[in-house]
Amino acid sequence: MTERKTEALVIIGSGPAAWTAAIYAARAQLNPLVFEGEPVGTDIPGGQLMSTTDIENYPGFPDQVTGPELMERMRQQAMRFGTRIQSELITSVDFSGRPLRLNPNYSAEIEALTVIIATGARAKWLGLPNELRLAQMGGGVSACAVCDGALPAYRNKVLGVVGGGDTAMEEALYLTKFASEVTIIHRRNEFRASKVMASRVLAHPKIRVLWNKQVIEVLGYDAISAVRLEDTATGDVSTQELGGLFVAIGHEPNTGFLGGQLELTPHGYIKVAPWRTATSVPGVFAAGDVIDDYYRQAITSAGTGCMAALDAERWLAHHGLGESPVLETAEGPVPASTSGSKP
Ligand code: FAD
Ligand code: NAP
Repeated sequence: MTERKTEALVIIGSGPAAWTAAIYAARAQLNPLVFEGEPVGTDIPGGQLMSTTDIENYPGFPDQVTGPELMERMRQQAMRFGTRIQSELITSVDFSGRPLRLNPNYSAEIEALTVIIATGARAKWLGLPNELRLAQMGGGVSACAVCDGALPAYRNKVLGVVGGGDTAMEEALYLTKFASEVTIIHRRNEFRASKVMASRVLAHPKIRVLWNKQVIEVLGYDAISAVRLEDTATGDVSTQELGGLFVAIGHEPNTGFLGGQLELTPHGYIKVAPWRTATSVPGVFAAGDVIDDYYRQAITSAGTGCMAALDAERWLAHHGLGESPVLETAEGPVPASTSGSKP
């Protein structure tokens, strides 16, 4: 019988957090194995940036880079330092003992000393046929105002924002910098958002609200031209011309495969120590949008991916495997692990 090899580090995910963690870990000679996932519905390996066009706010690309190109470059960079990649989803985990155990969709169970979870989150979409098509081709439909609002295609136009929560309020306020007018489309007659955010929106001279309206169709071939709306109280159907549409109806972190084995925040994101990436299970680290319901950017995901790799490296060193990269902060030494258990 062949003895099963225990991996030093397995990284789950394939967005900026996962590839950055892989680059750092591979350069630190941890020989990381990345499970990059598989295409499932609108989710594809490479993460959220695979469904967008130009990325203008990722440093280092003064001219132009598309989301898919940026992700392919990160993947190639990780491979250059020896990262091994398996194109499979992790469907379940067992973090109850040591080593940690991971179950891929098709292949045999994997054992690991440390794991980085960088499975991201997915923006919720309305699920209308023309909505995702236009979002994927840069046709004026987006799920991220901070990412796309400043693009020329959205300037000085009437922009729609769907949703009534704090995200929709934030997106609408942000878009007032670029739009001629922002029209919030909400399916009820009151906002779910906090009072302070709602009041700011309602007082803004550039924002108007269409209450009790549900988008039932997105119109336009190369770019959005209008949306068809149904009144949720009367059933009346109307058309609203728009130069852009931002869907802001929430996000869902990809944590289902964890089976409740890690502590989560009240909104379902993985809970990590403040300014660290350690989760509630020693040796398991998390990075990117799966820990972050606030910044949700490629660069912040890459940043926490770097942190997770350094944290995993330190954890391994603390348990007698390799050298530790960072031993102390300005305030003094930081323990690499709260757990005394051997891997
Ligand atoms: P994600 O990009 O969310 O990717 C994680 C991936 O891991 C998943 O997609 C999946 O392929 C894989 N995965 C998930 N579960 C499993 C599993 N169980 N096993 C194996 N693999 C799994 N940010 C910017 O900074 N600039 C922009 O211009 C910008 N534009 C955006 C446009 C749109 C339309 C959207 C939706 C987002 C945009 N963002 C932008 C935000 C940015 O995409 C995210 O902040 C970033 O991609 C998060 O990276 P991540 O590494 O956490 O994971
Ligand atoms: P949310 O609070 O769940 O709000 C989602 C909104 O989208 C709701 O108004 C909901 O309508 C609407 N919606 C959901 N599905 C829809 C659909 N299919 N069609 C049309 N409308 C739909 O999500 P969120 O706004 O992303 O906020 C999530 C959490 O993060 C909240 O706790 C929020 O307070 C917090 N947050 C805080 C800040 C901040 O403080 N600055 C910023 C962003 C987020 P209904 O109201 O009818 O259900």
